Amino acid sequence: MHVTVWNEYVHEQQEERPRELYPDGMHATISADLREHGYDVTTATLDEPEHGLTEEMLEETDVLVWWGHRKHDAVSDDVVERVKSHILDGMGFIPLHSSHESKIFKALMGTTCELSWREADERERIWILEPGHQIAEGLDQQIVLEETEMYGERFDIPEPDTLVMVSWFEGGEVFRSGCCYRRGSGKIFYFRPGHETCPIFHNDEVMRVIRNAIDWAAPVDGPDVQFEAVEPPLESLDE
Ligand code: ZN
Repeated sequence: MHVTVWNEYVHEQQEERPRELYPDGMHATISADLREHGYDVTTATLDEPEHGLTEEMLEETDVLVWWGHRKHDAVSDDVVERVKSHILDGMGFIPLHSSHESKIFKALMGTTCELSWREADERERIWILEPGHQIAEGLDQQIVLEETEMYGERFDIPEPDTLVMVSWFEGGEVFRSGCCYRRGSGKIFYFRPGHETCPIFHNDEVMRVIRNAIDWAAPVDGPDVQFEAVEPPLESLDE
């Protein structure tokens, strides 16, 4: 299992609080946890050539984790197309938090992916709706984050194939926080938490969800896709 953790890596270099929480970037914190749990991990960031997402890199990637916010528009359309074709081909994809507005997530969803939000360090309760789902493995009934940014409905996404989690916020809003999709042969799990001024990726339960999602989204070694009818037909056809 090879995981690539992609981060735009802007807030942590430009702002004090994100730098305190993630001195080497969120991608470093996330990948350190994954390595501790036995995953083979590479990181990639926006400023690298081709944003670190070359054809060779994606070819080796089973699951791509993505964090973006301020620089969505700086991600090149060519790279977005390349990532999309790998997802359709079976690569797993885990967009986190503000990646809801990334070019790649919007391209996969086909909707605006807009939502409402508020930065007030309020409490969030993430309720697990599907306790039998692979992504719920080892979790309690809910995950409580004492201080988070609020994301509220409506979240302009297509109806998820499976809605695994829903969040309640202290201010009264609710939000679909854990959404599973299939696109082509690829599996996608959008996971809401991850605001850059909160220690979200230092939270064991959050990281458990991300690891479970990686396991769930891993490619399956299924049959090659064929878009041509078998010639000649395998059985004789009525004249
Ligand atoms: Zn945020």
